[in-house]
Amino acid sequence: LFERVSARLKAQVGQDVYASWFGRLKLHSHSKTVVRLSVPTTFLKSWINNRYLELITSLFQQEEPEIMKIEILVRTATRSVRAGIEEAVAAVETAPASQARRMAGPQTVAQAAAGLTEKAQQRQPSHGPLFGSPLDARYTFDTFVEGSSNRVALAAAKTIAEAGASAVRFNPLFIHSSVGLGKTHLLQAVANAALASARSPRVVYLTAEYFMWRFATAIRDNDALSLKETLRNIDLLVIDDMQFLQGNSIQNEFCHLLNMLLDSAKQVVVAADRAPWELESLDPRVRSRLQGGVAIEMEAPAYEMRLEILKRRLEVARLEDASLEIPAEILNHVARSITASGRELEGAFNQLLFRRTFEPNLTVERVDELLAHLVGAGEPRRVRIEDIQRVVAKHYNVSRQELVSSRRTRVVVMPRQIAMYLSKTLTPRSFPEIGRRFGGRDHTTVLHAVRKIEDLIAGDTKLSHEIELLKRLINE
Ligand code: ADP
Ligand code: MG
Repeated sequence: LFERVSARLKAQVGQDVYASWFGRLKLHSHSKTVVRLSVPTTFLKSWINNRYLELITSLFQQEEPEIMKIEILVRTATRSVRAGIEEAVAAVETAPASQARRMAGPQTVAQAAAGLTEKAQQRQPSHGPLFGSPLDARYTFDTFVEGSSNRVALAAAKTIAEAGASAVRFNPLFIHSSVGLGKTHLLQAVANAALASARSPRVVYLTAEYFMWRFATAIRDNDALSLKETLRNIDLLVIDDMQFLQGNSIQNEFCHLLNMLLDSAKQVVVAADRAPWELESLDPRVRSRLQGGVAIEMEAPAYEMRLEILKRRLEVARLEDASLEIPAEILNHVARSITASGRELEGAFNQLLFRRTFEPNLTVERVDELLAHLVGAGEPRRVRIEDIQRVVAKHYNVSRQELVSSRRTRVVVMPRQIAMYLSKTLTPRSFPEIGRRFGGRDHTTVLHAVRKIEDLIAGDTKLSHEIELLKRLINE
């Protein structure tokens, strides 16, 4: 069974991706309904869980329909990979090069940590990225659905992929959003498109973790110079999950690289789970350099976009099985109920596809049952600043335009400050970001508003009740 699934998996994701992520996947145990697989590192485990679990589950289910669940275990659960990376980084941060070698531990740990072997690196086809994390061929602009939540980010990404180095207008381009909203997809689409273009630029796509590991081992092996030489000659640097970058000397290296690339008008694209000015753990020089470009936030997809994502997935699935039909009613229902992110939508869709082979007459009610665990899954429901503005405006009988306008009459000042206060307490947005959403105000204005409302609440029970009421209304 495991061999058959592995073969299908290899066929589906391609030889290179398979070798990078699944080469060391093993069968651990197998009951009637549960299959346990193992990998050597927690990094691989979370990578596979995040990206491939649904695929693997459906492949197993295609072989044996009774299987309900796939679990990924870590074989030697003695040490987390994160710890492995941190250890390697710490070693080069604290010790002279000669000692670092010994302290950094066996190279295999760090390699396992990155989920890649040198061999896998060397096998990269010559038109592929110079080095770095493997690209997923499915992550292209064609498969990326556009909507109001990502329009600006997509436009910027496309401009860069098309114009390459001449698109210095957005340099660096910084994309941020919470998890599952398409950052990795978009970044890889940029890398894939650039690689496919006639200019054939030299592209490097890396996660920040991979960058750390690569530099830590290079420094340890006295090989940093040749690594820097390689990176000096690239045209496009794409870095994912920037929030994980840490360590002084590594950030120092990153800072040099960033300066060098930006100063020679090479394009840099970065993604993180928060805005550049909120990356508190980052070296201030790196942060300020990142802030010197354009930061664009992507939001959760609206209903129409979720429906479109499902429709596209259906089209793809029909390439394999033209007889496949999912009634519009059911797709609509899924798009309406799964609100969290692209990741949950993908999971829901795979469930749906799989179920249809056994229950051809799926009803909306049945789909509801099947997807119950995905509805409202992932993150807690995200409150949006627009919703706060809408509710507050309505409650105080002012318009939303007035709320974000520059008017300073008493009737709007207080509601505006309350709306800012609620934005800061109910969303993860930063002061500058909130300022921007309230008609381009300065972050100190927001800070002032939040402090003022906090003070008022402390001494005014009527106001604090009112705020509680507003919170309830916003959460409805
Ligand atoms: P992030 O990196 O922000 O956590 P990902 O790029 O990994 O998110 O996206 C999670 C899943 O949702 C992926 O399968 C991705 O293809 C899908 N997805 C997210 N946004 C879109 C979109 N706009 N169009 C199509 N698929 C999307
Ligand atoms: Mg990602």
